[in-house]
Amino acid sequence: MDLKGKNCLVTGGSRGIGKSIALTLAELGANVAVTYSRSADAANEVVKEIEKMGSKGMALQADATNFAKAEEVISKVVTDWGSLDVLVNNAGIAQDNLILRMSEENWDAVINTNLKSIFNYSKAATKPMMRARGGSIINIGSVVGISGNAGQSNYSASKAGIIGFTKSFAKELASRNIRANVVAPGYILTEMTEKLNENVLEAIKTETPLGRAGNPDEIANVVAFLASDMSSYITGEVIRVDGGMAM
Ligand code: NAP
Repeated sequence: MDLKGKNCLVTGGSRGIGKSIALTLAELGANVAVTYSRSADAANEVVKEIEKMGSKGMALQADATNFAKAEEVISKVVTDWGSLDVLVNNAGIAQDNLILRMSEENWDAVINTNLKSIFNYSKAATKPMMRARGGSIINIGSVVGISGNAGQSNYSASKAGIIGFTKSFAKELASRNIRANVVAPGYILTEMTEKLNENVLEAIKTETPLGRAGNPDEIANVVAFLASDMSSYITGEVIRVDGGMAM
């Protein structure tokens, strides 16, 4: 796969899966901008690593829930680099609780960060991608958006919403050569999942046919494929990367 000359933006690229996606895209020759909410140092380190690989990098502080900020970020990438070819909507949070105990704040925070952010960045990316006569948007969902999960009603709803949004977006923008797809990870080792207790971790491994958790690079490789022209006839698709968990 060759991403030379492609200008990419990864939301939440300071840590975890987003960091791995940013570095994988850069390794394949792309210029990569990352956004973050709080981890400035980590985001700047990611940029240093991107630049070491000979690509251009940029770190921008931007709360993904803020629409005006999304427009600002995309406008900065297009002004500085000339185009936006690939958008990876990765920023996300979990605030798990049973519905009986879930607060309105838990609900709003997760829906706004995981789902509204996808609208914010996809909408802001549409005009520049139309001008460039094409683009690829990759939204990071989750297998629980397909299967649901007790204790994750807000998170599952946000991730299911991403699938509906992506398919609608893909249908609206296909004639402009803009593709949109979802990558739905299973259980991946990052800071988001390190808080789970041993029993839950063991249960997840037992329920995963490949018998182990995934690592961020295994998500990044699929994102790179969807970003590249090798996936030029794929749009509106949901690709599970979950060791067979939701099969
Ligand atoms: P993570 O390690 O907690 O990293 C989350 C990233 O999102 C960080 O870069 C964080 O930036 C950023 N972020 C959070 N809130 C933000 C906001 N309001 N505005 C901008 N950036 C924000 O999480 P992860 O495990 O890598 O998850 C990445 C994506 O994969 C998420 O969408 C998650 O739902 C999805 N996913 C993960 C798993 C898994 O098992 N790990 C499974 C399925 C799906 P700061 O550091 O600045 O806060």
